[in-house]
Amino acid sequence: MNYDAMFQSALDGLRADGSYRYFAELERHSGQFPKAYHYGLGRDVTVWCSNDYLGMGQHPDVLKAMHAALDETGAGAGGTRNISGTNHYHVELEKELASLHGKESALLFNSGYLSNWVTLGTIAGRLRDCVVLSDALNHASMIEGIRHSRAEKQIFRHNDVEDLEERLKAFPRDIPKIIAFESVYSMEGDIAPIEAICDLADKYGAMTYLDEVHAVGMYGDQGAGIAEKLGLSHRLTVIEGTLGKGYGVVGGYIAASAPLCDFVRSFGSGFIFSTALPPMVAAGALASVRYLRRSSAEREGQQRAVAYLRDALDRVGIPHILNPSHIVPVMVGDAELCRALSDELLKRFGHYIQPINYPTVPRGTERLRITPTPLHSNEAIDELVDALLVLWQERQLKRSHAA
Ligand code: PMP
Repeated sequence: MNYDAMFQSALDGLRADGSYRYFAELERHSGQFPKAYHYGLGRDVTVWCSNDYLGMGQHPDVLKAMHAALDETGAGAGGTRNISGTNHYHVELEKELASLHGKESALLFNSGYLSNWVTLGTIAGRLRDCVVLSDALNHASMIEGIRHSRAEKQIFRHNDVEDLEERLKAFPRDIPKIIAFESVYSMEGDIAPIEAICDLADKYGAMTYLDEVHAVGMYGDQGAGIAEKLGLSHRLTVIEGTLGKGYGVVGGYIAASAPLCDFVRSFGSGFIFSTALPPMVAAGALASVRYLRRSSAEREGQQRAVAYLRDALDRVGIPHILNPSHIVPVMVGDAELCRALSDELLKRFGHYIQPINYPTVPRGTERLRITPTPLHSNEAIDELVDALLVLWQERQLKRSHAA
C-alpha cells in the first residue's frame, strides 16, 4: 500500500477546490504588533486577521508576569494537574476566572478547543439520556465534543429560538438537556439571543453552555463577555472561554458551579491525562485577565478602530457584513478570488488578511475576515481600505453602492 499516495490524493483534492490551507510564517516582534515580519515576502506587513484582538499578547504587564514566572517556576508544569502539575498560578487563575464570571468555580484546559471538547463530551456522555441542542454554526470543538459524547444531538437553526423551542418540546422535561451556543459567532460576527435562550432553558429544564471565546476580554465592564454586558452571567450554566484571543496568551477554561467543574475535572479524560499548562502561561493569562478587568482603554480602542474601518469601507462601497461585534467580514463569495485578493493585498500593499474559505465558511460565502485592534491606527485603516478599493476597481468587483 502506498499510504503517502493516499494522503497526497486527498490533499490534491483540497488544492483543486481551493480549500487547501497555507500557513503564512510570521515573526511577531514584541511591541511592534500589528506589524510583523513575513518570511515569504522578506519584509514587514500589517496583520489584520489576528485573534490577539486587543494586542494583549505583547502587553508589558503580561510579558513581565511571564518572565517573572518563568524565572520562578521553570519551563513546564511537570505533570498533569492530578499528578504534580498543579502550580499556584493555575489555582489563582481559576479563582480569578470564577470571580470574573460570577461563578463558584472554574477549570483550566490547554486550549479553548479542549475546554469545549472535554466539557461537552464529558457532561453529555456521562449524564444518562442527555440530549444536546446545538446551534447550526457552532465551532468544530463543540461539534466534536458532542459527537464524542455519543449523546443524541439536535441541531437548531442558527440563532433561531423558535426552532430551538420546537426541538426542546419534543423531549420529556425530566431528561438532561444542554443548549450549546456561542455569544459572538466567529465568522459572521453576529450575537446570539442569549436571554431568550436562557428563558427557554428555564422553561424546559435545560442547561445552557455558552462559548464566549470571541467575547472574553472585549465586552462587559470587566471584559467577562457578552453575558456580563447584558447582565446575564448568572443565568448561564457554563461559560466557556479562551485565554488565547482577547487575553493574548493560550489556554481555555470553563466557569460554572463547583459540582459541575469538579465533575469535568474528575471524569474528563482530556483534562485528566494531559500535562498542565506551563505555570508561566497561567501567570501571563492571570495578568491579562486582571489587567482587562480594570482597564477599558483597550476595549474602547478596539471599538474605535472597528467603527472607523466600517465607515471607511462604507464610504467606498466595499461590501461587508454589518453586525454588532468587532468582526468585520468583507464578502468575496469565491474561493479563488478570495485567495487572489489576499495575495495581492499582501504582495503589492503589505497587508496580511488570510482568506477564509470552505469548510470554515459555506461555499459561495468566502470572505476576508478583518479584526482591527486598538493598535491599528486610523492611517493604517485608511491605507488598507485604499488598497482594497484599488483591487475592487481593477477587477470591477461589485460595490455596495455607486461610491
Ligand atoms: N470556540 C470558538 C468559537 C472558536 O472560534 C475557537 C478558536 N477559533 C475555539 C473555541 C477554540 O479556542 P482555542 O483557540 O483557545 O483553542
